[in-house]
Amino acid sequence: MKRPGRKLRITGKGRCNLTNIAEVSEFISHIGPDGRFLRQAFSRFFSEDLIGFFNTIGIKTVIERGGRVFPASEKAQDIVDCLVNWVEKSGVIIKCSSSVKNLKIEHNSIKGVELSNGKIFNAGSVIIATGGASYPATGSTGDGYRLAKTAGHTIIPIRPALVPLETSGNIAAKLEGLNLKNISVSVWKDRKKIADRFGEMVFMQYGISGPVILSLSRQLGEIFENGQRLIFSIDLKPALDYKKLDKRLIRDINDFGNLKFREILRKWLPQKMIPVFIDLLKISSEKVCHQLNSKERKKILLLLKEFKLELTGIRGFDEAIITAGGVNLKEIDPKTMKSKLVKNLYFAGEVLDLDADTGGYNLQIAFSTGWLAGKSVVK
Ligand SMILES: Cc1cc2nc3c(=O)[nH]c(=O)nc-3n(C[C@H](O)[C@H](O)[C@H](O)COP(=O)(O)OP(=O)(O)OC[C@H]3O[C@@H](n4cnc5c(N)ncnc54)[C@H](O)[C@@H]3O)c2cc1C
Repeated sequence: MKRPGRKLRITGKGRCNLTNIAEVSEFISHIGPDGRFLRQAFSRFFSEDLIGFFNTIGIKTVIERGGRVFPASEKAQDIVDCLVNWVEKSGVIIKCSSSVKNLKIEHNSIKGVELSNGKIFNAGSVIIATGGASYPATGSTGDGYRLAKTAGHTIIPIRPALVPLETSGNIAAKLEGLNLKNISVSVWKDRKKIADRFGEMVFMQYGISGPVILSLSRQLGEIFENGQRLIFSIDLKPALDYKKLDKRLIRDINDFGNLKFREILRKWLPQKMIPVFIDLLKISSEKVCHQLNSKERKKILLLLKEFKLELTGIRGFDEAIITAGGVNLKEIDPKTMKSKLVKNLYFAGEVLDLDADTGGYNLQIAFSTGWLAGKSVVK
């Protein structure tokens, strides 16, 4: 790309959630099934080291909800500027607009790289840190997987992760832009609950997004691959069980018996959901509340506790925060990040088969593995 750190600049909605202060076991529990691979890297360079490092290069940090760490300036650009400044001062030459096309490998040993303009860089060691395939406009186009393959590495099939979900029908489109906070959601497959979360989500033209959705997407991505459809259910009143909510509905209907149905819905729902509820419930919006019968009240209760959408799939790499899959960890030495197949070839960051939840975990993986690979090369 023309400038370094394009993706870093857009992380954390432009604020860069650079790490998380969770202790190492909890940290690893936020990473996919192979998080333990990182124990060695974390023992060398972990969140406190990263925070300390940024503090010494002039970035003050703050800790927010859930242990998430941000620059105090709330500007990801400051992180990029400081890093670029630091590497340049350390004598590193950054070559922009220089895409690596091929690896130069002789007798199973890396000798350098060839750029797409044909120029060759000879090198005693090479670190592939090309990122995943998500948000390709930032430069992470998935090239690293192809390069790794040419070196004989196996690639665990890649797919978008931390990604919005698509739903069938037009309900999501009608609710586009509506943000729901403090809701419980669950996902059902063949009438069995397979996942649940509590938190915040947002409706999109094509489906649903937001923190709870991104966090569910990793697990669901694998299921959609088998062509399966799932049911997504939102509990809009998680603080009240069915019985308590029914009591509240009875009380409101009694207290406001003269209101029209569409008017009383304002007490229970965000404005944007009211027309959708009226459509789904098939109760006249003009009906006066004291005329609502118990069957209708039960229907309202059920929709408030189980607002259902059919999930049909995940969005693509263009919208995925992270790429799941990548260079097979079995072929990498966790103590050095060195390839077990090609001499003096190293890997770091998202190109590896590692991905984690949102919360600063993914950048810490990139920083820790990058640090370890760099130190190993120098050694
Ligand atoms: C919108 C968004 C928000 C995010 N927010 C957060 C967050 O707040 N916290 C968090 O922990 N994680 C976040 N992530 C994830 C995080 O940004 C990535 O996991 C992380 O950037 C991976 O770092 P990396 O160095 O491995 O790869 P990247 O940051 O993707 O960098 C790869 C680099 O390699 C270069 N490159 C690729 N191919 C070639 C080639 N052939 N030749 C030369 N150069 C090449 C690219 O141009 C790029 O500069 C976010 C991701 C996105 C998309």
